[in-house]
Amino acid sequence: MHEVTPWPLPPALDPVLLGKCFGCRMPLDVCFCADIPVIHTRMRVVIVRHCAEISRSSNTGRMVTRAMPNSVIVDHGLPGPGLDLTGLLGPDAWVLAPGSAPVVDPVVRTLVVMDGTWSQVRGMRRRVPPLQDLPALSLPAPAVAPLRIRRGEEPQQLATIEAVAAALEVAGEPEPAAQLRAVFARMATCMRDLRGFDMPAKVRR
Ligand SMILES: [Zn+2]
Repeated sequence: MHEVTPWPLPPALDPVLLGKCFGCRMPLDVCFCADIPVIHTRMRVVIVRHCAEISRSSNTGRMVTRAMPNSVIVDHGLPGPGLDLTGLLGPDAWVLAPGSAPVVDPVVRTLVVMDGTWSQVRGMRRRVPPLQDLPALSLPAPAVAPLRIRRGEEPQQLATIEAVAAALEVAGEPEPAAQLRAVFARMATCMRDLRGFDMPAKVRR
């Protein structure tokens, strides 16, 4: 896993101390790490995660880096010097930013995906160099309703792992996209079994 979170985490955030698997953050008796394949991709993915997501079992950015060797996750908002991605991005890096122009050229070699709530994402783009200066792209609306593992999401809002899958599809890598969606489906099943119900989608008023 390419997760660059400082270790050890504070005890209140340490999944192992909380009785959870470090890999999938699920209780050890329902750990599904053995079902997560190694997914090889041409496109490199850099996930910039808000630090509030580190301890959340429902964080899907972690699942991307768990499955994809060609990906890395870094955390914004931790104590210490601010995050700077300048040395982490190669040429032809784009940032996924909802509301920007849809992707036209599918040749994206490095995709930066911000992982957090929408307001956190807006803040990260302003504060983390060089996100503000990267060319931005958005994804086409999903053809089928996205899976839900969190409350209060907009009907069309994608989880980070779904967004990466959609980007891979646009970039001409449908097989890794399908594998990634299968990982998310496995995760959603696990969370539904733990909760005992499906997460309802937010209804627009
Ligand atoms: Zn696990």
